[in-house]
Amino acid sequence: RPPMPRPARTRVIVSANQKGGVGKTTSTVNIAAALAQLGQKVLVIDLDPQGNACTAFDVDHYQGTPGTYEVLVEGAPLEDVVVPVPKLEGLELVPATIDLAGAEVELVEEGGREQRLKTALAKSPRVGDAEDRWDYVLIDCPPSLGLLTVNALVASTEVMIPIQAEYYALEGLGQLLKTVEMVRAALNPSLKVSSMLITMYDARTRLASQVAEEVREHFGDTVMRTFIPRAVRVSEAPSFGQTVMTYDPGSPGALSYLEAAKELAKQGEK
Ligand code: ADP
Ligand code: MG
Repeated sequence: RPPMPRPARTRVIVSANQKGGVGKTTSTVNIAAALAQLGQKVLVIDLDPQGNACTAFDVDHYQGTPGTYEVLVEGAPLEDVVVPVPKLEGLELVPATIDLAGAEVELVEEGGREQRLKTALAKSPRVGDAEDRWDYVLIDCPPSLGLLTVNALVASTEVMIPIQAEYYALEGLGQLLKTVEMVRAALNPSLKVSSMLITMYDARTRLASQVAEEVREHFGDTVMRTFIPRAVRVSEAPSFGQTVMTYDPGSPGALSYLEAAKELAKQGEK
């Protein structure tokens, strides 16, 4: 099987939704792991002070660990704070610690506070078309539309919105889309919502299929064809410091994330 082709230049994709618990982190880490397994060079930037992506990757994120905080607040180069993700070749992480919780406040007085992450990416020799580039930079956002998420939106070209197949799935989506539109208009003209990913889909319930149908009616082809099933193995994996891609590669959750990763890669070929 030929290796998956690399994109011509780094794709920067943010996983955003101001609702908590919809699958932002789970989707980020598993798609990142899947892309790495497909031979891509991948960087995950953890922008959530909770550091859940770090947990899934078994990477330290105790207070004081250099990471996203140093990049945003102190202007540290990304290369200085990236760490390899154990057991997943080709995958690196910028860790987030609880220090990041203070960053929103600390940056309020700073000029260009919305552009901190964009500037860091622009300065990195591994973002762009160089041979040793990251093919994908995936950014995991906190559950809010504050300055951290805005930094991610300004730094990205593509927004992936995970949507939990639940009753209130579409609630709050308008606000998120409005924020994306504001960032696009004021700060980042190349930003677009490229994909919506249905997560925690339970094929046995009518509700899940109704929600999926409704999302598709509203958003058409932006909705990814791959749905991520609700699966215990997916939720267990982080407690073993793993993604489901290594924890149980043959499980339905892992296979779906592999499909989602391939679909995402295909989008980039257009
Ligand atoms: P967010 O980052 O949006 O807050 P998470 O990715 O942390 O959401 O997911 C919220 C919870 O749902 C976590 O406990 C996670 O393990 C669980 N979860 C996410 N996706 C699935 C899935 N496909 N099947 C079962 N549980 C899931
Ligand atoms: Mg999260």
